[in-house]
Amino acid sequence: MLTNDQLDQWDRENFFHPSTHLAQHARGESPNRIVKTASGVYIEDRDGNKLLDAFAGLYCVNVGYGRTEISEAIAEQAKELAYYHAYVGHGTEASITLAKMVLDRAPANMSKVYFGLGGSDANETNIKLIWYYNNILGRPEKKKIISRWRGYHGSGLMTGSMTGLATFHNKFDLPLSQVIHTEAPYYYRRPRRNMSEAEFVLHCAAELEALIAREGADTIAAFIGEPILGTGGIVPPPAGYWEAIQQVLDKHDILLIADEVVTGFGRLGTMMGSDHYGMRPDLITIAKGLTSAYAPLSGSIVGDRMWQVLMDGTDENGPIGHGWTYSAHPIGAAAGIANLNLIDKLGLVENAGKTGAYLNAQMSAALGEHANVGEVRGEGMLCAVELVKDRDTATFFDASEKVAPRVVGEMARLGVIARAMPQGDIIGFSPPLCLSEAEADIVVEKTASAVKSVL
Ligand code: PLP
Repeated sequence: MLTNDQLDQWDRENFFHPSTHLAQHARGESPNRIVKTASGVYIEDRDGNKLLDAFAGLYCVNVGYGRTEISEAIAEQAKELAYYHAYVGHGTEASITLAKMVLDRAPANMSKVYFGLGGSDANETNIKLIWYYNNILGRPEKKKIISRWRGYHGSGLMTGSMTGLATFHNKFDLPLSQVIHTEAPYYYRRPRRNMSEAEFVLHCAAELEALIAREGADTIAAFIGEPILGTGGIVPPPAGYWEAIQQVLDKHDILLIADEVVTGFGRLGTMMGSDHYGMRPDLITIAKGLTSAYAPLSGSIVGDRMWQVLMDGTDENGPIGHGWTYSAHPIGAAAGIANLNLIDKLGLVENAGKTGAYLNAQMSAALGEHANVGEVRGEGMLCAVELVKDRDTATFFDASEKVAPRVVGEMARLGVIARAMPQGDIIGFSPPLCLSEAEADIVVEKTASAVKSVL
């Protein structure tokens, strides 16, 4: 076995890490945890540290670590058939079965699922399908995509453009011109402190209307949104937000993509986040919770109104020219089947609702009154603590103070992993859906200790 020093050296010499301060990493200034094994909600690193992973990797290990039901299903699939492609009508028992299981769990007006590998490529697929759809319908001008500031939709060219966070645009020449952004439904950071929630919802809908009027409705194809903002700060929308947005979209014949990469398969305490907020999407993006990250797999669930047009279009235009070598990979599909069965068997959707509510309530009780906590918020098994310099004015800390990274660093020292969200001093939590109340108590206790020791 390699020594830790050897691994550390090879890592710095050879490995280009995603979303990493490359120079700090090369100089050995940033955390460099090499994870060895994991079980339940705990991961263990090569130095023997055991940490409660209150972010489920990257909001993805929803059933928890070390589930042999899934690893065995993967091994069996690999032995029987490691790969066959899905082009020109080919399939495998695993991919066909999983498509049925996904549709059984999706809202009623959904028609088919197109499998990819990760959330970014699924969202790229969505945009290509929407452009194809509008071209078939003879509306070649209707192509722009509206997303929200603080939305996160991936790291590709279009998906990175739809992502509304500056770090993901910086020096990449993004956003591309086909993408435009509108107001985030972030009530805590509303334009006026004395605005009510209902007024703020009207304001978000009016901003959207104004953007559509400026650009021209006949140039706008779709609106993309996460049911609850994730990477942008774990921000549940104010009551009535999705109804108000949906009305504007319907009026202007603009499609809705619900990006459910984080919320799909139980995180909000309902099978889909769209169900939770009464959204009526035309396309749903799924990834992380589809396999609980035991193997890479994503999907674009296509609604009836688009499917019919796409299908009819191929008679005139020939086969749809879009596919990945690994679309519907059977090992990913086998992981997905075992994962969805496990979610049902263990009642994890219900647990996400129940234990998630407990986690949020306990976090509020522990930190809600702290002088530097602006807001504790969440929904289901998602929670965030927003840290501020001054609670009355919601003033940010100076970025150079690196408050959230310091809190998260202290939490790791205490044995709990949370995430310093990329924009603002926000500590994010997205634990595995199997979290118990006792484990939630540990998360809350360590968070409170870390906040109190840093601030
Ligand atoms: N959409 C949402 C809502 C996400 O949170 C993410 C990743 O965090 C993505 C898309 C991109 O998924 P991936 O990183 O698998 O490409």
